[in-house]
Amino acid sequence: MAVSDHDYESLLDRARERIPKNISERSRWTMPEPDIMIEGSQTILRNFSDIVDAMDRDANHVFQYLLNELGTSGSREQVRIMFKGRVPPKRIKEKIVSYVKTYILCGECKAPDTRFVREDRTTLLKCQACGATRPVRL
Ligand SMILES: [Zn+2]
Repeated sequence: MAVSDHDYESLLDRARERIPKNISERSRWTMPEPDIMIEGSQTILRNFSDIVDAMDRDANHVFQYLLNELGTSGSREQVRIMFKGRVPPKRIKEKIVSYVKTYILCGECKAPDTRFVREDRTTLLKCQACGATRPVRL
């Protein structure tokens, strides 16, 4: 999928567009635009903690997901991530959007008001808005 640097918001909008109006207004869910800088041989996601706060997910889970998906290593500091190598900012943005789709948005109503619940050996993503569940692999 080819995505320009400016498509982050439209990708998120597309993911959110099916949210029923009453739910999207209630949740007022917005995500900060990733602030990415390439410095020498590393790539810095400067506002990682803001993004994680908006996601309301475990920072380490998001961090590990990004490393796996981008196929690189990196380190997490207070508010930012340093990726090893020069990673195109649009790839990082795409992976953040795919995390949102995979681990946050409800599969039925697309609301972002979800949380993980354990059931036997599986983890389900449970929607607080409509009650739907779907299995997720953590
Ligand atoms: Zn739902």
